[in-house]
Amino acid sequence: MLSNGMMDTTARGMGQGSGQGLRGGMMQQQLFDIFNGVVAETTLVAFVISIIAAAAVSAFVSYRVTRPVQRMILAAEHISSGSYSQRVPVSEFLQEKDLDEVGRLALRFNQMAESLENIEGMRRQLIGDVSHELRTPLTTIKGSMEGLVDGILPATPEVFEQIEHEADRLQRLVEDLQELSRVEGGKPTLNLKIIPISNLFVALKSILLRQYEAKGVSLEFVLSDNLPPVRVDEDRIGQVLINLAGNALQYTPQGGKVSIGAVRQGHMVEFYVQDTGAGIPAEHHENIFSRFYRIDKSRSRSQGGSGIGLTIARALVEAHDGNIWAESKGEGQGSTFRFTLPSA
Ligand code: ADP
Repeated sequence: MLSNGMMDTTARGMGQGSGQGLRGGMMQQQLFDIFNGVVAETTLVAFVISIIAAAAVSAFVSYRVTRPVQRMILAAEHISSGSYSQRVPVSEFLQEKDLDEVGRLALRFNQMAESLENIEGMRRQLIGDVSHELRTPLTTIKGSMEGLVDGILPATPEVFEQIEHEADRLQRLVEDLQELSRVEGGKPTLNLKIIPISNLFVALKSILLRQYEAKGVSLEFVLSDNLPPVRVDEDRIGQVLINLAGNALQYTPQGGKVSIGAVRQGHMVEFYVQDTGAGIPAEHHENIFSRFYRIDKSRSRSQGGSGIGLTIARALVEAHDGNIWAESKGEGQGSTFRFTLPSA
């Protein structure tokens, strides 16, 4: 049996215990609520931060990728409609290796646009040059024919010769242009064979000697010892030599001299055509290889020159992986044209 005192204590203890349990439950609930609140708040903050981060990343991607690509699309549209001056901005201060993929794409795009612009400029220039070159002989032929029809010009052999001369010029110009478009329209196909250099010179001599004798210009061939053969397209290199030797004859007065030769230079053979004629001032040395470029336009044209011969020669030599250039001490001091070819 329990005493009263003990029962009291037990009842108080039980009352205290249920009070503490109640408080513990409430604290648990409060803690749970706080926890829930913190989780909800953190989730909200994380959500807001992730939205901001996503917006920042998408703005960055749009700035670094989408915008430049859109600019390129716009520039490409302009170029395809004929406006070749379009470019996309690329940092001038960065080198190509420091650019990212989009930057490199933009750089390549600009390079492509620039070469298209150059090609377009050359096309326009060519049309202008060709029409100019055709106009002169056509005007002379038309004027002479009108004079003959109207009876103003007497029908003498000289008049007909003049017309024939102009018609020849037109024909030569058209042939030269055809040849130029062949050699400049990509690398010409070469029929490469191993040829002794003396063969090239023998063929050249048989073609040119009579013309040299007729003008009174002496022609000599100089072959240095131990020259290796060359691996070339005989017709094409023959054409280069005829061109240079023809020019040398054209620009050398009677009594002058032209020397044609070859020397070994490492694994290359260097050919030269040297004359004692008109000479070429230094500022023209590079330009004379551009099409239709003539130092003395009226003199060259009146002698039938089209200004294309050296352009064709350069294209043919470069197709053989060689180089061609001109040297001269100046006007009246003769000229030397040199070109290299790989030895066999
Ligand atoms: P062209 O048919 O007018 O001779 P080219 O392309 O062969 O055309 O030569 C271009 C120009 O280079 C010539 O018009 C001439 O002014 C100059 N030239 C070429 N070869 C010589 C040379 N041997 N001596 C002086 N000038 C030359």
